[in-house]
Amino acid sequence: MEQSAVDTLLGWQSALRLEAVAAKLRKRGFEVEVCANREAAGARVLAMAASAQSIGFGGSLSVACLNLTRTLRDAGKEILNHGFPNLTAEERDLIRRRQLTCDLFLSSVNALTDEGVIVNVDGVGNRVAAMIYGPRHIVLVVGRNKLVKGDVEAALNRIEEVAAPVNAYRLGCKTPCAATGACAHCAGHNEGSICRVTTVIRQRPLYSAVTILLVDEDLGL
Ligand code: SF4
Repeated sequence: MEQSAVDTLLGWQSALRLEAVAAKLRKRGFEVEVCANREAAGARVLAMAASAQSIGFGGSLSVACLNLTRTLRDAGKEILNHGFPNLTAEERDLIRRRQLTCDLFLSSVNALTDEGVIVNVDGVGNRVAAMIYGPRHIVLVVGRNKLVKGDVEAALNRIEEVAAPVNAYRLGCKTPCAATGACAHCAGHNEGSICRVTTVIRQRPLYSAVTILLVDEDLGL
């Protein structure tokens, strides 16, 4: 059997898994769409952005993979991205605060369980705050690599083993994991730690409009 045939078989299984998670998320009150790939997810975000003026970016690599900034800017949208280069600390802070009340906030998640529970670990907290309450519309772009089998503990394991150490390295943090690639549980006693806040979202926050795009492709960390 050729690899392309194997990929087709694995794709069948992956699509079924995403549909199953989508059903669980809908029962938890979220709007959910399954997208075959990043291009399809990007098209959906652009469609949802049509009625928005201010677009907040939570610092997600998954969202960055969609390459939407130029298109949105050309459409006259205000881009609120604290990750743009050459910003002062004050400018980054102001942008983060404005993300909390933007029209459309774009982010991903650190882990999503097969039961539809969203788990995040954050350092600043602006990302998790904005995905809970504030923006008119919150869109979470979630690649299939973010799915975990099991409970919140399994989600936290994924974050500890993959997302947090690699993000710490990417961001140039002064943490043990940024040097070794492995978590040394520095939260609570290291000024450089990016693991300061943990959120578990079990249901759509009561007054928030949240759409989750499940992407049948690996995206982000
Ligand atoms: S707790 Fe510290 S060492 Fe562990 S992943 Fe977070 S920042 Fe890295």
